[in-house]
Amino acid sequence: MLAMLLEKAGRPLVPAEVPRPEPGPRQVLLRVLACGVCRTDLHVADGELSRPKLPLVLGHEIVGEVVAAGAGASRFPAGGRVGVPWLGWTCGECRPCRTGRENLCERARFTGYDLDGGYAEYALADERYCFALPEALPAAEAAPLLCAGLIGYRSLAAAGDGAGRLGLYGFGAAAHIVAQVARAQGRRVFAFTREGDDAAQRFARELGAEWAGASGTPPPEPLEAAIIFAPVGALVPAALRAVAPGGTVVCAGIHMSDIPAFPYRLLWEERVVRSVANLTRRDGEEFFALAARTPIRVAVEAVPLARAQDALARLREGRVRGAEVLVPGLRA
Ligand code: ZN
Ligand code: ZN
Repeated sequence: MLAMLLEKAGRPLVPAEVPRPEPGPRQVLLRVLACGVCRTDLHVADGELSRPKLPLVLGHEIVGEVVAAGAGASRFPAGGRVGVPWLGWTCGECRPCRTGRENLCERARFTGYDLDGGYAEYALADERYCFALPEALPAAEAAPLLCAGLIGYRSLAAAGDGAGRLGLYGFGAAAHIVAQVARAQGRRVFAFTREGDDAAQRFARELGAEWAGASGTPPPEPLEAAIIFAPVGALVPAALRAVAPGGTVVCAGIHMSDIPAFPYRLLWEERVVRSVANLTRRDGEEFFALAARTPIRVAVEAVPLARAQDALARLREGRVRGAEVLVPGLRA
């Protein structure tokens, strides 16, 4: 099969013909229908996350068709369509696992980082960590829900149910989905982009943001919560400035540049800064149930698998509207 391999951080992905993997116990072999390109992939490829298995197949937003099952794997029928997220395996024994926080498992293995992912024609997954997907969604549109959507959903929950005025910093794959979920929940959305990115601001307004502007600009009224998707530490004090007393700032990314020093008064009055890490299977069950009953428009740019390196470059340059998705069936 064709797989796009990361052999070393900082080097371009290499197209390689590798043997199709065999499913082990509780694993399914999937024919990859679509695999989303996430900013985390970029952090791994660029060496900002420092301990990937190498060589590695990136990709943790996999929509695949079950073509074979290993011993004891019976959850999904052959020919069924499943989604594979970032959380690929947990120990079930450590304290976080035993207290409903498997996202923080001390021995967790992550798809497209510790385990080979979906930048390939076939992929393996432990069936216990796969999700059934809403039937109505085409594979390419379902793929970004598996991380951008899911982490966005967990971040929205961390922002608090009471956060009616919500700021989103960085209007990419995750924010464009979360904005629609937040609107469906009756929240008001304020979108912050890079200065002068009129196209992203227009895109945000089309998806229900009532205001969109540059990240250094104060919003027209104080926010009750903000979620930072852009990997830019300077946005933390900027978002704290924008939230009202008691407001929460959620950092949703796995990596961020350093946060500059800021005066204590920005945190004073019970403002909270927190991060969101990974996902639990429960997040996934909740989110896909919500996605099945909420009309979500997923803006997708389909890219042939062999062009994965170009897709990463476009994401790095901030030239993507919505989400890029690798589609092995699409010819380069
Ligand atoms: Zn554990
Ligand atoms: Zn991701």
